[in-house]
Amino acid sequence: MKIKDILAKGQPTLSFEVFPPKEADSYKSVEEAAFKIAQLNPAFMSVTYGAGGGTSRYTVGIASEIQKKCGVNTLAHLTCVSSTREEVRRVLGEMKESGIENVLALRGDIPKDGRRAEDYQYASQLIYDIKQFDESLCIGAACYPEGHVESANKTADIEHLREKVDAGCDFVTTQMFFDNNILYNYLYRIRERGITVPVVAGIMPVTNAKQITRICQMSGTYLPARFKAIVDRFGDNPAAMKQAGIAYATEQIIDLIANHVNGIHVYSMNKPDVAAQIRQSLSEIL
Ligand code: FAD
Repeated sequence: MKIKDILAKGQPTLSFEVFPPKEADSYKSVEEAAFKIAQLNPAFMSVTYGAGGGTSRYTVGIASEIQKKCGVNTLAHLTCVSSTREEVRRVLGEMKESGIENVLALRGDIPKDGRRAEDYQYASQLIYDIKQFDESLCIGAACYPEGHVESANKTADIEHLREKVDAGCDFVTTQMFFDNNILYNYLYRIRERGITVPVVAGIMPVTNAKQITRICQMSGTYLPARFKAIVDRFGDNPAAMKQAGIAYATEQIIDLIANHVNGIHVYSMNKPDVAAQIRQSLSEIL
């Protein structure tokens, strides 16, 4: 089923993300984790795609297995920063053959050594090509409530989001954020700019304090004082940090749904127990 049709129902939906293995020998364990998450019956599951090619090999395989063996809709990510048009068409062909109807079209981070293929500058060009390849595919894109790190300012970033929507994207998923007010302001701004596609809120349950501090510094994500206090107090105690991180994410989700943000995507990072605890805490809400 197409994600745009799921979101169009206007009901709260919960979806989860997994990342594919880098090497063949961890394929089984990733597949197992993905299947356990699929048993929670999410609205859909997304499978990431490595921008540098490293973890891209198994994206379509994992996405297609989840769909075929567990009956859960999947969203296969696809990046273009290191790809030629020919490679993109090849992966799209594999998706089509595997029955995948949803693709998250991304540029990908520019590799540290600056080496990139020349066919694509921005995700909007990839969206255009996907539409040309198969008009019936449902296309998602990324958006950044706090602005993308490379963009000059938030207004410019929203203009570029508009280009992705104009190129044919059907919905957008946000970068993680830890203060819901940032998302509410962003929604107001993009709606004012005429961007009307559904926005799925990306929520990260933080279970590793050090990792998240580094990621947030790199992406410029704002850490509210309430969140920082949790990291300061429980960061050195992995079990406590995990419990507090899951509780924080769950509270964020409840507040979002209460404010009619219906599409919730959890960056569950191949952790079925984390996904299950969030799902369980929302059992009467969803
Ligand atoms: P774009 O939309 O192309 O934007 C990149 C930058 O260029 C922005 O600053 C934008 O404002 C600017 N820009 C866009 N168009 C123009 C223009 N015409 N002129 C000037 N500037 C312009 N990465 C992975 O490698 N694999 C994944 O699976 C993955 N999944 C993700 C899922 C989500 C929900 C999110 C939010 C991010 C994900 N990422 C993933 C990270 C993403 O690839 C990076 O954030 C990347 O740096 C930007 O990708 P994009 O598709 O948003 O790029």
